[in-house]
Amino acid sequence: MLYIFDADGTLCDRQSGELLPDVAEKIATLPSDSILTICTNQGGVGLRYWMEKDGFGEPKKYPTESQVKNQYRRIAKQIGAQRVYLSFAYQSKTSGKWGPVPNDSLITPRERDTIWSPEWRKPAPGMLLAALADHNCDKSDAVFIGDSDEDQEAAANAGIKFVHADEFFERR
Ligand SMILES: [Mg+2]
Repeated sequence: MLYIFDADGTLCDRQSGELLPDVAEKIATLPSDSILTICTNQGGVGLRYWMEKDGFGEPKKYPTESQVKNQYRRIAKQIGAQRVYLSFAYQSKTSGKWGPVPNDSLITPRERDTIWSPEWRKPAPGMLLAALADHNCDKSDAVFIGDSDEDQEAAANAGIKFVHADEFFERR
């Protein structure tokens, strides 16, 4: 079984970034042949880039690419996840406009089609489909665990089962 987890609010605390206290115990109960991955929207990276490029807002309030990569690599290590999928694409909540993507001198064509692509930002299914493909997994053998409407929609868009984090980790 391929377990795909959202990160913030599902595996880790939104404010502190620390692993939530009930996560390790539940994950230890999963069958030993389980494959664990993480799919997380990190649009703050895209927003920071937009602010720095166009000179507005407070970019320092948002994380850098390497801060985000280090944070979720650490979480992945703590739960024994094989891979982390990140989405840096940022969409304005007010205008619906997508932020700029770094040009070809800064990112690879592959990064443009994945980590910086709107197709990878949940509720689009790109990250989830990549996790399935990378692990050669049938949709019927995968489940996405998340805590938001966009997670639920992403699972539906990818055609895989969704389980809410509260249910999976038996919270509340
Ligand atoms: Mg979440």
